[in-house]
Amino acid sequence: MTNLKLKIADLLGQPIGNSREIEISQNIPSPDPDNIKDELHITGKITLTKLESEILGSFDLKTQVALLCSRCLKKFKLPVHLKYEQEFSYADKKQKNPDIIYTISENNLDILPSINQEILLAIPLKPLCNQNCGGIKI
Ligand SMILES: [Zn+2]
Repeated sequence: MTNLKLKIADLLGQPIGNSREIEISQNIPSPDPDNIKDELHITGKITLTKLESEILGSFDLKTQVALLCSRCLKKFKLPVHLKYEQEFSYADKKQKNPDIIYTISENNLDILPSINQEILLAIPLKPLCNQNCGGIKI
């Protein structure tokens, strides 16, 4: 299973302020196949809280991304900790807040685009296997 659509119909039926915690442990496809060859294994938890016209997602996830060091060109694993909040709108077409770009459809909350974006933000432009990498030894 590589999609991350959370079923939230039960949460939508609850009073504002109610929340639900979801444990995640699964593989997702690479968010950037040109630079990241392997699937990623994501673990951690997501707390979904029902607000007036949004679901607030609090993400606390960990993964490791296999990258090539920009100096020595060796493959290494960069640990990535994703800790962020994201709002998902369910007020269909009546969005008060234009910053909310993630919407809920058919009681499913697709969190994969949000996670992909955060992973890409967490990856440095020039990754280094370690800060003191001496580059290619000749
Ligand atoms: Zn290196």
